[in-house]
Amino acid sequence: MASNGTYNAYDMARAQFDSIADVIDLDEGARAFLRTPMREYHFTIPVRMDDGTVQVFAGFRVQHNDARGPCKGGIRFHPQETIDTVRALSMWMTWKCAVVDIPLGGGKGGVICDPHNLSMREQEAICRGFIRQLARNIGPVADVPAPDVMTSPQHMLWMMDEYEKIHGGHFPGAITGKPVGMGGSLGRTQATGYGVIYTLREALKELSIRPSDTIASVQGFGNVAQYAIELYHQIGGTTISVSCWDQKEQCANVFRKKDGIDLAELRGITDRFGGIDQAKARDLGYEVLPGDAWIDQDVDILIPSALENSITAENVEKMSKRVKIIAEGANGPTTPEADKAIHARGIHMIPDFLANAGGVTCSYFEQVQSNMNYFWEMDEVLGKLDVKMTAAYVAVSELAGKQSIYMRDAAYVVSINRVAEACRARGWI
Ligand code: GLU
Repeated sequence: MASNGTYNAYDMARAQFDSIADVIDLDEGARAFLRTPMREYHFTIPVRMDDGTVQVFAGFRVQHNDARGPCKGGIRFHPQETIDTVRALSMWMTWKCAVVDIPLGGGKGGVICDPHNLSMREQEAICRGFIRQLARNIGPVADVPAPDVMTSPQHMLWMMDEYEKIHGGHFPGAITGKPVGMGGSLGRTQATGYGVIYTLREALKELSIRPSDTIASVQGFGNVAQYAIELYHQIGGTTISVSCWDQKEQCANVFRKKDGIDLAELRGITDRFGGIDQAKARDLGYEVLPGDAWIDQDVDILIPSALENSITAENVEKMSKRVKIIAEGANGPTTPEADKAIHARGIHMIPDFLANAGGVTCSYFEQVQSNMNYFWEMDEVLGKLDVKMTAAYVAVSELAGKQSIYMRDAAYVVSINRVAEACRARGWI
């Protein structure tokens, strides 16, 4: 995943930005300002471990841009986290909030740790330590964290509690992705995956393809993937394969059933990190294939919903000729080289910061509900989410059509223009 070898997520995020800056002829000042985060925090989190020793974890929070509103973005717990990955992700959050037109900026956080090997008490200590280091620099009017890779509503609740302890009062708008009943919003858990499918549904409509005539292969089986599959099946689609990380074997596997996977069945044999039990899956009739087999399935739709750097120059050629749509559930799954090949093949791309914007959009709804202490019903949340996601998709797709440009480029044009305009209006640049 992270910045290793030739792959660096920050280089990729900047390369994407630079190429659009050329397309829209962005002035030098705006370029210099927007291609670098406004602020970043690097800190250590000492934790007394269960065995009595002290372990020191490295943490980061990057605030890319807050011209349109407080910074917003998740916190990842991952053993290979790097500052450059967090920088890239914070930049993508700025574009994500702008493309769905919510009044928030972009931020991201990370801690280098592996929750697989940490007790709940140790994880709680990391969450509280993270907030103690940042309590003066985040909050409802500055920067609002949320869950991401390997962080959960329980982690968010510990973080909110620590923030409130330090500031003395209730500040539920300081963090989103909290448990329902503790300041969380109904629908937040579903929101990212469902949002991917709202945009996919619109793309299918545009291409005059019936969802029930399509089959998909999904990379990942975490929160985003599971809810994307749930809604995709509800609108009539069939998923034939999913992949997930096997912690014991330290590799990814693909689980395939050619007549369609049964989501409930797989969820029943999955741990809380999205790891599927291999033996049980075989008993249920699933084929177990190598982790990269998700990409070469004979399907209409690919939904990469794991980590960045998944569709690369090396594996993009393995993609079946049948693939018509890629909906990026993950952040940064496609490298620029692979993206060129996908564009050249005429595949309809729903780019990450548009496709997966449902999570942060629902986080925004959660903040609104938290701030007024009045919580909406599920239908209201999902209805509003659908409206926002559909409007964003249509705006990007119309621009792509009008200017004959790639969907990812159109999404960037919309977002960068909105953010640059906010910076100019404030007199920053
Ligand atoms: N971590 C999610 C993302 O990458 C959600 C961020 C949020 O809710 O603030 O979009």
